[in-house]
Amino acid sequence: MAFKPISLKKYLKIHLNSNPSMKEATVKKALKDALKTYKDGKRCSCGNDIWVIGAAFVGNKCFTCITGESYPTDDYELKDAIKKRPSTAGRKHIDEIPPKKIAGFFDDDGYEVNLDLIKNLLYV
Ligand SMILES: [Zn+2]
Repeated sequence: MAFKPISLKKYLKIHLNSNPSMKEATVKKALKDALKTYKDGKRCSCGNDIWVIGAAFVGNKCFTCITGESYPTDDYELKDAIKKRPSTAGRKHIDEIPPKKIAGFFDDDGYEVNLDLIKNLLYV
């Protein structure tokens, strides 16, 4: 139920072994571009963080949208992108709320923080 962390260098080797027709420079650039997209905070259209290794080849989407599976099992993800933020699906962004109605807490990305969820976490 989790990604297996791997360095870009190691993944590159594995990928080229199973895709011998692909050029190393092309694959490396695709991975680096996708990693940059992840680091810039761009998300999949569904609200999840992108899966860098998948996104490098099929576009900026998350693991679930790329594979159709809910959770990764023994799937690789680059070490630098292993930490996925909670999905923003169904959450309100501060820019979508009329200024007079803004109340409560927002995370660094500008999404409303659901305090009920946090309370539940504390008592688990
Ligand atoms: Zn998605």
